[in-house]
Amino acid sequence: MRYGWIFGAAISAIIVAMPLVYADNAECGRIEDYVYEDGKSNVIVANRNAGKQVALTFDDGPSGNYTPMILDILAENGVKGTFFVVGRNAERYPMILKRIHSEGHEIGNHTYSHPDMKKLTPEQLDEEISRTGKAVSDIVGVSPVLFRPPGGYLSNDIVDKITSNSCKTVLWSWRQDTMDWKCPDVEKVVETVLSNIRDGDIILFHDFNPGKSPTPEALKIIIPELLGRGYEFVTVSELVNM
Ligand SMILES: [Zn+2]
Repeated sequence: MRYGWIFGAAISAIIVAMPLVYADNAECGRIEDYVYEDGKSNVIVANRNAGKQVALTFDDGPSGNYTPMILDILAENGVKGTFFVVGRNAERYPMILKRIHSEGHEIGNHTYSHPDMKKLTPEQLDEEISRTGKAVSDIVGVSPVLFRPPGGYLSNDIVDKITSNSCKTVLWSWRQDTMDWKCPDVEKVVETVLSNIRDGDIILFHDFNPGKSPTPEALKIIIPELLGRGYEFVTVSELVNM
């Protein structure tokens, strides 16, 4: 089963109430199959041919507090990111969604209601994807071409369904899950990113957080540091040359 290892890892991850934990180590060993090179993979986790480019990604927003703060930081540093939005949040904060779009960031689809993916019927998944696509399109005029499943939960059928909705499936790079939704210290988020950075990485953050998010403060350290190391911040579509 082509995505069997992702599926298995996702189930383990869900057991510990966590987003996907997948590995490019010898145990699982097949991460390169999922690294997007020359358009060969259906699931994007990185682009190792990208050179010194990386993608900042933000899930679960827009939110009324953290999304504008993060947009301010990206603007101050002149860098772009990708926001995987929840459709109902996009409808709640249309002006913030417009701001994301007008400032040159990419908008991805992260379902309409952030459901438990393993409980969805194929029809419900279709509805989650298409309703969000329409919500975003109604507000900013373009429909997302990227989809990230809540919790990183995937199966062959889910990937096929995403593809049939004209979207590419995006996860994130191994070792670049900042776990910022758990509100660790700023230093922990910074260290996770900086000590593991590789060319072509997709870094996972959240711009919705019911607690005190470390993300804005961490970005203020991470972005200048990586710029200083010669990295360029691009959207996910740019990273994979879509
Ligand atoms: Zn999410």
